[in-house]
Amino acid sequence: MLLAIDIGGTKLAAALVDHGVIVARRQVPMAVDAAQFAAAIDALVDGWPAPERISVATTGYVDGGKVYPVNRHIISFWNGFPLEQLLRARFHCPVTLFNDAQAAAWGEYCARRDMGEAAYPANLLFLTLSTGVGGGLVLDHRLRAGPHGLAGHVGHAPARLAPADGLVACGCGRLGCLEMLASGTALARQASAVFGRPLDSAALFALAASEPRAAAILDLAALGVAEAIAGLHMSVDLDAVVIGGSVGLAPGMLPRIAKALAGLPLPCPPPLSAALLGADAGLLGAAACPV
Ligand SMILES: [Zn+2]
Repeated sequence: MLLAIDIGGTKLAAALVDHGVIVARRQVPMAVDAAQFAAAIDALVDGWPAPERISVATTGYVDGGKVYPVNRHIISFWNGFPLEQLLRARFHCPVTLFNDAQAAAWGEYCARRDMGEAAYPANLLFLTLSTGVGGGLVLDHRLRAGPHGLAGHVGHAPARLAPADGLVACGCGRLGCLEMLASGTALARQASAVFGRPLDSAALFALAASEPRAAAILDLAALGVAEAIAGLHMSVDLDAVVIGGSVGLAPGMLPRIAKALAGLPLPCPPPLSAALLGADAGLLGAAACPV
């Protein structure tokens, strides 16, 4: 039995996976420090059989068995956190770590392959719009993690467009990142500035149906995402783009991105589709990832 663990900015999920099928699943809020993290892992697996191996999808990037933040505002104790060592000591089995969006990219690729589509994509970009903006690349049928685990971090490439409330410094230290324009956090920040009251991204989507200023914030974010897709497409030549995450899958967001992409002068634009694996993309992707 394989133990899959998905570590996000706000949640910690674990699943027992048998031949690609989740047979048990638990979720708790993400821990605030290392000690609480170890206790949360113990609670998640309480009563479960000892795993044969562990596969982890985590926010941040994975280098040498340790996890580092790109956006330092997401998990405070995550800078060089020895996650592989901690899990090996606790479970005494092989442990493999992946960035969560990279794992999800592989999961989405495998889901399309296993559907038996005659021409499943060899070059797929997965883009998740959620608390942050993450991404993963499958190139020539292989997951691209990169020598430092950084590949696919589209959220920290320049968006070219300024957010509705002006340029904001990103938690990665740079200015003008896509994450500051198109993440759920960024949408909430822009909506709150434009409307002069605290609004979250769900409220912004609800407002967009009747309020042009709300729709304009979503259109701007969608254009930023389309520009990022276009930039990557011209860099590596994609044949599929998959959009996921709570913001990416919110009603109307995918059509906005598709419309923005169609408006760009781009040779052979890649088709867009919605993520197939939903909230379990990290768990199932990690479970499917090559060891
Ligand atoms: Zn950034």
